[in-house]
Amino acid sequence: MAKEELECSFCGRKKPETSLLIAGLDAHICDRCIEQAHGIVIEESKQSDDSDLSAELILKKPKEIKGFLDEYIIGQDNTKRVMSVAVYNHYKRLLQPQSDDDIEIQKSNIIMVGQTGTGKTLMAKTIAKMLNVPLAIVDATVLTEAGYVGEDVESILTRLLQAADYDLEKAQRGIVFIDEIDKIARKSDNPSITRDVSGEGVQQALLKLLEGTVVNVPPKGGRKHPDQKFIEVDTENILFIAGGAFDGIERVITKRMNMQAIGYSAMKTDDIDKDNILKYISPRDLKNFGLIPEIIGRLPVLTYMDPLDAKTLRAILTQPKNAIIKQYKKLFEMDEVEFTITDDALDYIVDKAIEYKLGARGLRSLCEEILTEAMFHLPSSDETKLNVTKAYVEDRLNKSTLKTLKAVS
Ligand code: ADP
Repeated sequence: MAKEELECSFCGRKKPETSLLIAGLDAHICDRCIEQAHGIVIEESKQSDDSDLSAELILKKPKEIKGFLDEYIIGQDNTKRVMSVAVYNHYKRLLQPQSDDDIEIQKSNIIMVGQTGTGKTLMAKTIAKMLNVPLAIVDATVLTEAGYVGEDVESILTRLLQAADYDLEKAQRGIVFIDEIDKIARKSDNPSITRDVSGEGVQQALLKLLEGTVVNVPPKGGRKHPDQKFIEVDTENILFIAGGAFDGIERVITKRMNMQAIGYSAMKTDDIDKDNILKYISPRDLKNFGLIPEIIGRLPVLTYMDPLDAKTLRAILTQPKNAIIKQYKKLFEMDEVEFTITDDALDYIVDKAIEYKLGARGLRSLCEEILTEAMFHLPSSDETKLNVTKAYVEDRLNKSTLKTLKAVS
């Protein structure tokens, strides 16, 4: 067949009338038909998404959930177990058939307490990834009571809608991670800060959301405005995970435990793991810290994060599925450079992260400091190998402005 006689086997347009004609075995397809077909595929998959809500959510068992978390997160065994069960129960609740008994499974909203950079956000992200549900990460510090400068609590749901591409169904079974929940603690219990009850107002505003209610949400965010159209979002099946460092809560815990020891508690003070007081946290400590009892009641699953020791930091560098070092390897590979790093170089990076109190987040900043120079030069050189040794790391870090690194911690 002469070239100009070729035509699209679907719409019959001749080659010159198309922008592109792709040849198959015995047929051809033009650009327009490809686009149309693509549209149909997307539409179809959307429909099967909606109708197959429960099939899509066929849930992994807690052990499998933990197995998934293990691939991405090092350590934090306790939180992983607690999370796996809470997430399992939450979605079981979603999938439960209508029954005529009066047993209603309540929400398993979660609160994680632990220093910054110990993996709280990563935990929420990984769960959302596993379940393939949208995730909104919000910072409690920007939330204010209605009428104050800042964001209304409804903005949380605007974010979730955005994360779900405005698919309401998806948003309504998504996950919201509220970071820095400790920053909206009632301040009046804390003698060092003058009376300030604004945090309590935000807590009150959050209550309804956590519990499950229908909220009018401005889809584009911003303040509620009489002319704006709202989307009604039901928070009944949204899983809320809150996280916070709760700086100083160890004192609150110790004080409570000492009181118990004076009373008739079973725990002897010498049995206490003084390096990880957080593991004894109880809802009462959250109350003493300044969360109102109603909020604590609506975040019934309480768990803590272990501080990251050198061994854990070292593992974070190389072990998780998308470990930092694996990412650099991939980046260099794209320039056909084989990147290797020695064990003592890795140990040295970990030592520095601890020395500068940078935590896990600092590992990344340190690696950037160390590798930026190479990432600048190597793509335009003939070199095909980069072996990073301890001496190389020392040299790079000596040249860098470590003070800036300290400042970001
Ligand atoms: P948090 O929310 O507790 O402040 P993040 O989850 O934001 O901490 O952690 C910051 C970064 O540190 C993450 O992106 C991740 O790369 C790394 N990280 C922290 N803890 C862990 C961990 N336990 N396992 C793997 N990576 C971790």
